[in-house]
Parts: sequence; structure tokens; C-alpha cells
Amino acid sequence: MKRRGWNPATWVSLVPNGLGHVKPNHYWEIVRTIWENRDNLGKAWRILHEGVCDGCALGTAGLRDFTMKGVHLCTVRLNLLRLNTMPPLDIHRLHDVADLQRLNGRELRALGRLPYPMLRRRGEAGFRRISWDDALNEIAARLRNTDPHRMAFYLTSRGITNETYYVAQKVARFLGTNNVDNAARLCHAPSTTAMKQALGVAASTCSYRDWIGTDLLIFIGSDAPNNQPVTTKYLYYAKQHGTRILVINPYREPGLERYWVPSVFESALFGTRLADRFFQIHTGGDIAFLNGTLKHLIERNWLDWDFISAHTRDFERVQVALAQQSWDDLERASGATRGEMLAFAEALAQAKSAVFVWSMGITQHEYGVENVKAILNLALARGFIGREYCGVMPIRGHSGVQGGGEMGCTATTFPGGKPITPDTAHWLGEQWGFAVPAWKGLSCGDMLDVAYNGELDVFYAVGGNFLDTMPDPAYIRTALARPALRVHQDIVLTTQMLVEPADTVILLPAATRYEQRDGGTETSTEREIIFSPYIAPPPAEARSEWEILLSVAERTKPEQAHLIHFADGQQIRNEIARIVPEYNGIQHLHQTGDHIQWGGRILCRDGRFGTPDGKAVFTPLKPPVTTLPPAMFVLKTRRGKQFNSLIHDERDPLNGALRDDVLINPVDAATLGVREGDWVILRSAVGEMRARIKFAPLKSGNIQVHWPEGNVLIDAHQRDPGAGVPSYKALVSIHPITEAVLQEQR
Ligand code: SF4
Repeated sequence: MKRRGWNPATWVSLVPNGLGHVKPNHYWEIVRTIWENRDNLGKAWRILHEGVCDGCALGTAGLRDFTMKGVHLCTVRLNLLRLNTMPPLDIHRLHDVADLQRLNGRELRALGRLPYPMLRRRGEAGFRRISWDDALNEIAARLRNTDPHRMAFYLTSRGITNETYYVAQKVARFLGTNNVDNAARLCHAPSTTAMKQALGVAASTCSYRDWIGTDLLIFIGSDAPNNQPVTTKYLYYAKQHGTRILVINPYREPGLERYWVPSVFESALFGTRLADRFFQIHTGGDIAFLNGTLKHLIERNWLDWDFISAHTRDFERVQVALAQQSWDDLERASGATRGEMLAFAEALAQAKSAVFVWSMGITQHEYGVENVKAILNLALARGFIGREYCGVMPIRGHSGVQGGGEMGCTATTFPGGKPITPDTAHWLGEQWGFAVPAWKGLSCGDMLDVAYNGELDVFYAVGGNFLDTMPDPAYIRTALARPALRVHQDIVLTTQMLVEPADTVILLPAATRYEQRDGGTETSTEREIIFSPYIAPPPAEARSEWEILLSVAERTKPEQAHLIHFADGQQIRNEIARIVPEYNGIQHLHQTGDHIQWGGRILCRDGRFGTPDGKAVFTPLKPPVTTLPPAMFVLKTRRGKQFNSLIHDERDPLNGALRDDVLINPVDAATLGVREGDWVILRSAVGEMRARIKFAPLKSGNIQVHWPEGNVLIDAHQRDPGAGVPSYKALVSIHPITEAVLQEQR
């Protein structure tokens, strides 16, 4: 039942607008954005007013969304705006990269948009401008003479559209390779793998509107207020409808604890306490905690037996596995008590509906797939999938990644998420009119390993910056320096472009989604395919991303160019609708606000799952145990004021942490004899990092540093074997830096 009027019980403070609290200052961000974009305010306004946000995958149509009335806008979107409005950079700066190599990513970005194709040969000091013809011909000539196993394509998610993802993967296959992957590999690849196996679908089974009015909204390893800020508005209204919010996480995330929602007057004024309860567990303790919860549900018979027997299989295998897991072991592995697991189980048992939301805290582990399956086990055991106000939602942090996977821009699947087999390759080949390779391609991490081993000749990156996004930057730098040809198709300069060429590096200037000819579409977390129109031309000679990729393919195989050619965006959408049946309707999207939700509000409705026999599959799971040697900590990386690896501010407005802070429980700090503000060295098996102690309500034994700074501590080869996602986690020791050393360093 919806509550009417204000609810002082949820207020954070009587002090207006959270004055004196550590919190984002939304109004200041608006002023700053106007100032930053003052030379191109018209374009900035049209992007906000007509475009689909290129930030996270919540999804907008202009300044609206499909969940509720009111303005949809956040600081992430405001901070990204400048990427779309900047003037071109002065290419003379590229003639000698020595200066540029001293700049960080933020400083390189601020130089402006990439205006022209640029080329640098081995031994040359920098890049020189070349024509599009020269650039495309050189790339085509190299590709023509390259074994398809020794070429690779990677696409990031900085606003890339479905049209570009679709064309990119088709181009790769046209050239004979399945070595094409996208940024989802680094975030939700374990979610799609686990969901496909257990449910037969690889996307959120519910919609955001199911958050508002569900009995329980459960966040696991997710800090939505930081990564998807407008979710806080949904959370405010969910609470008004009586929804309880539970959080399972090692850190009591301040953004989930309380938030000042700028678009809600009551909340903007007094703040809103969001989470009703936190369950603090160890980093990597999720399976143990969720298994323990399920064990309680089984022991007390708090299960939805009708659902389990009618719509699932293999539950008895889970029962057998859980019977063998002792409470002592589950408590030790999870970091939570049996009583806490019981409290969570009781909440589930009393709820008639629940939505489970998770993010990188769940997926970025060597056992990311199993972590997701632990969530699915629990949701299935209570029958919380396939009806309104229920579902499982891997919430996406970037606007492109849902569509990127569904367009088949992955090394392991074809469009529509079809597995790569001789049969599917044959079918696709018949549709496209050329032979499609049936071998499994290299995922992103594998591409870099192969490059490191000197077994990759052409590496084509559409956006991204592996030096920031992948663990162990020294290893990645070496890998990037080895392919004979590296192509970076992008909108701005990044540090990876400046890695010395083995032979040749070519930069290709790309248009953003708002400059893409004929507009483009993105797919949101809740499966809304949304049209974003063409808004303004790109700077200088920048071109639409899909057009560049097509030109490369057509020049590589001119005799077959007609088989890959698309005249415009409409033709691409027409083909997507034919090849990916779930996307039927995309061909009718033409203007701002046009959208279709594939699958409708709810997937797996009434327990009809997408698996071959229509039943969901339970998975017995053994909790991983991290044995912590004395004086060691489990370190996990986290995001601050940033979008992906684009850092927007030195300070995280939600907790006040600076980029080089290490978050640590005060009791752990006292044990080490360090105080807040002290400098320490964090040391892992692969690297070390200087950091400043900052107290935080973290589970004892666990620490956190910002990403990508913490990547120097992470082993590049520690990945989930099923999904290829890096773990972004390490065991570290902490060593105080003495005053004498500090003096010496000054
Ligand atoms: S919440 Fe996400 S989709 Fe919405 S404005 Fe912010 S970044 Fe864009």
C-alpha cells in the first residue's frame, strides 16, 4: 500500500539538504556542467533532451524514463556530457608522445576529441596525420594477410550502440574470426553464463517498476547509488510502497545507507534512509551466506514446493550438498553468523515477492558464475521468478553491455546469445551469405595473453583502455606492445594508444552515439531497446563507428564487399530484427522515446523457463574458502567518482575517500598500529601500492581500494574459468611507512 505524505521516520537529518554530511552536491554539479559545456550548450541540451543517456544502463529517453514520471538525470550523465561536446584536440600535441605519456587519462581526455586518422611507426616519436583512405587501406592490407586466429577485435561500452556491436561482430566473422569481445566480459559475463545455464535466459527477468511495491528488494555486491544514481529515486518510492531494502555486502555502503534524492523534495531536503538492514559478509563469502540461508529455508520448510516441483529440477542435489555443509564452515566462509543467515531467511520466508539485484561485487571473482547461481538457487527456492514484483536482475553499469552481448559481440556466442557450434555457424552463414567460423574465439583476457605471447598480429580496439581496465598494467603494457598492428578507434586519447608500436599504431576518430548517422539504439538492463536520434555532426573527420568497421571489412575483401555492406542504420536494424527474433520491432524505432522491451515486463512468466525442457536448474555449490594467513587482508577494488575507468573526481562524494585511500575497519587498523591518514604500502603477490588509511565500516579482514589504481595488486591471470572475468581481488599485507621513509620520499 502506498504511503501518502512525508515520512519523518526515514529522514536522515533535520538539517536541510544534508549540510555537513558527506554527500554529492547535485546542484553544484549542474552548475559545473553548464560551465564546462558553455562553448557548446546547444548540443549539450539537445543530447540531454533528445538522446538516450550514454552512462549506465538504467535507460532514458531524453530526460524521461519508462519507470515513473519526472525528470531522469544524474551527475554521471552530466559528467559524461563533455565527451560529446568537446572541440577537437590540437594534433600537433601528438607529434611527440613523450609529453603526453606524462599525462593521466583525465588530462589526455581534456585535450579534446580525436579529429583525424593518425599513424605512428615503430621508432617514431609520435603520430602524424594520414587520410582516411591511407588508414583504411593500411589496416585492410594487414588484415588480408593475417591468419584470422591471429587477429582480434574488442569493443568497450562508452555509449556504443547496438548497431555498432552488430556490425563489429559481423565484420569479425566476415574476416573469418570469432576473436571479438566486448566490455561485458569484465563485468556481467558470469551473470549471462549462469543465467543462461540455470534459467535459459541471460537478462534481467523483471523490470525496474517491479522494485516499487515488491516486499523485498535485495542488493548483493552492488552499490547502485554510485553506479546507477537514479535508482535512488526508485528506492525512495519503493519504500513509500512498503518495500524493505536489504543489502548483503562487506561494506556498509554509505550511498545505500542514506541518500538525498535531488528530484524528490522531501528526500532532497532531509535525506532518506534507504537500507533497512545490512548483512556484512566477507569478500567472496556470498555463496556461503546464501547457502546458509537456503539451508535454513530447507530446515524450516520455508520453501515454495509447488514452484520447485512444477518448474525446476535438481533441487534434491542442492539439499544433499547443503546437508554436508556445516554451520561452522558456512559461518567461517561467509563471515556472518548462523543467526544472521536465519534473519535473512526469515525475511525471505515472510515475503510474498522479492527482487534480487547484483553487480560486480558478485561477478568479479574466480567463482563469479557460481556466485550468481547461488542467488538464482535462493530465488528459485522461494518461487521469486516469473511474476510481477519478483525477479533476478544483474544491473548493468554501462549503457552498451546488455546489447553488446545480445548482438553477438562476444567470443563465445553469436547474435541472440546462440552458442558457437557448427550448426549455428552454418545457419548464420546461410543468412549472411559467407562462411562463418565455428571455433570458439578468444575472450578479452585471452586476447591479451595471446598478444603477450607474440601470437597476435592485429589488435583492433574500439574504445576502452586495457591499461586501466585489466589487472596488472605492466603485463598489459607488454601485451599491447607486441601485435604488429594496433588500431584504436576512439573519441579521445587514452594512455594505451601511447604504448610503443611493435610496428604500427593507427588511431581512427569516431563519432559518439549522438553523432552516429541515422541514430542508434541501446538496450537497458530491463531489456528496453531505446532509440537515440542523430543530434549533431561529429568534430572534424570523425565517422560513425559502424561505418568505419564496414569500410575496413569492405577494403579487406573487396570482392565480397556487397555481402557486408549496409547503406544506413535502418538497414542494420532491419537485419538485427531478422537475425535476433527477440529484437523484432527494433526496425520500427525512429525517434526519441521510441522503445520496445524484448520479452515484456517479466521473463520466464509463470515458471516457463528458456531451458530445453522449460525448467529452471538448481546447482549444488560448494562455498569457496579463503584461508587468510596472519596479518593478511582480502583486498577488493571499488569505484569512486568515475564512469568505468574515466575518473571524474579525486574524491568519492559518497564516502569522502580519495583515490589513493585504502578503506579499512578501524579495529583492523588499530591491530596494525596505524591511524587514519597514515601512509602504508599494500603488498600482494604481484605488486605493491602506496595508500592512505581511511576508516570505513568494512567487515574485519577485508579492505578496499579504488579501481583502476588497485590493479597493480591484482594477478592478471586470476579469472573465472567459465566466464573469463578477472577477479579484481588479492590477498595483501599492509606495511606502515615510517616517518623517516616519508621524509626521504619528500
Ligand atoms: S542513472 Fe544511469 S541512465 Fe540514468 S542518467 Fe544516470 S547514468 Fe544515465
